[in-house]
Amino acid sequence: MITRRMLLGHGAVAWICLPAMAWAKRAQPKRSTPAPSKAPLVMLDPGHGGKDPGAIGVSGTYEKHIALASATELRRQLSADRRYRVELTRTRDVFIPLAQRVKIAQARGAALFVSMHADALTDHSVRGASVYTLSLSASDAQSAALARRENAADRYGGAEFRGTSPEVARILASLERAETRSGSARMARSVVGAFDGTVPLLQNPARHADFAVLQAADIPSVLVEMGFMSNRADEAALRRPKHRAQVAAALREAIAAYFAGAPAAQLSG
Ligand SMILES: [Zn+2]
Repeated sequence: MITRRMLLGHGAVAWICLPAMAWAKRAQPKRSTPAPSKAPLVMLDPGHGGKDPGAIGVSGTYEKHIALASATELRRQLSADRRYRVELTRTRDVFIPLAQRVKIAQARGAALFVSMHADALTDHSVRGASVYTLSLSASDAQSAALARRENAADRYGGAEFRGTSPEVARILASLERAETRSGSARMARSVVGAFDGTVPLLQNPARHADFAVLQAADIPSVLVEMGFMSNRADEAALRRPKHRAQVAAALREAIAAYFAGAPAAQLSG
């Protein structure tokens, strides 16, 4: 067996790495000037991934692919603004437990968390986008069912990811929550305002439910359902890059409106 030490000893690492580095240099896309390091960090969270496909559309589209394609487009649009730093909780087709997504946003010091989904409902006639904020009691039965299904995503991760947040953590977190909650609600209103007239909206589009992925006590968080995979028209629209770019443009506008009204402390976030 050839060990790493043996390779180092023989200078073989340089021999192996050089061609790879040359390739990486060639493959590097031309970047515009990045946003200043003090710019607020927007964490985009493409739902599902890897062994968790998310909802499967009426014609077979996987929600996880729509979520990643949409978040990637939104990152492209937001980065062009150079007013925010933008990161994704996942940039590949990998499984990430819900609590881990929250932890990534916290560890990176995100000022805003936007989870992106296109789930399914049992009623296939329901279509349109909607936005969700965290609440222990759901605004309606449909939202409660969505949260239950979303929170079940962790079943793909095995027993180690199934633990829910302990009660003590919840109580401590609630101290920070009031401020976060008002930020989340403001962001939800921004999203509905930006979607109105551009992206078809569900009736009463600003809803709330107990989504595990929205439980960062210190980061205003929303979950955007860009449409429903269970509806043929929504699925067809979300498969089109042009429609996803429209959704992203509306979200970009919503994020701009959110930060325009944010207190200075959050801007330096
Ligand atoms: Zn989802």
